[in-house]
Amino acid sequence: MPNEEITPDPVELDINSLESIEMSGSPSGIVCPECGGVMWERYFGSFRKLECHLGHAFDMASLLEFQAEEIEQRLWSLLRVLRERVSITRQMANSARENNNSSEAQQFEAQAQQALQRAQMMRQVLLVGEVIPAPSSFAIDEASNENEGP
Ligand SMILES: [Zn+2]
Repeated sequence: MPNEEITPDPVELDINSLESIEMSGSPSGIVCPECGGVMWERYFGSFRKLECHLGHAFDMASLLEFQAEEIEQRLWSLLRVLRERVSITRQMANSARENNNSSEAQQFEAQAQQALQRAQMMRQVLLVGEVIPAPSSFAIDEASNENEGP
């Protein structure tokens, strides 16, 4: 592993590197996935290394790996929020139906359907890594919610 020699583990950084603002190389336009800081790039032959002001350092392989983990975490987090949104909007739609407010119930139900479709897309992304654009395949199995209630 050639990167082990020149890529310091951020945890083992010398404190002096935290006090230095001087960066060698050039700004990469890529944000540090650890701290959000600008990363500077340097080339060692064909080997490209990115490092931020705090000393988080990445070669391309480790950066891609880090990004892949972050993407997956965010997708799961997004899926969780969407499922909560489905649940909350369904509850509000039911509550509106109980109060004989059918237009409000429809609005909440529409929001629930939208969140459900997005959640299904997120699940598909997580399962197979891509979204196949086929809106008709998003079977909304809980179609019974279309009635206006009591
Ligand atoms: Zn950083």
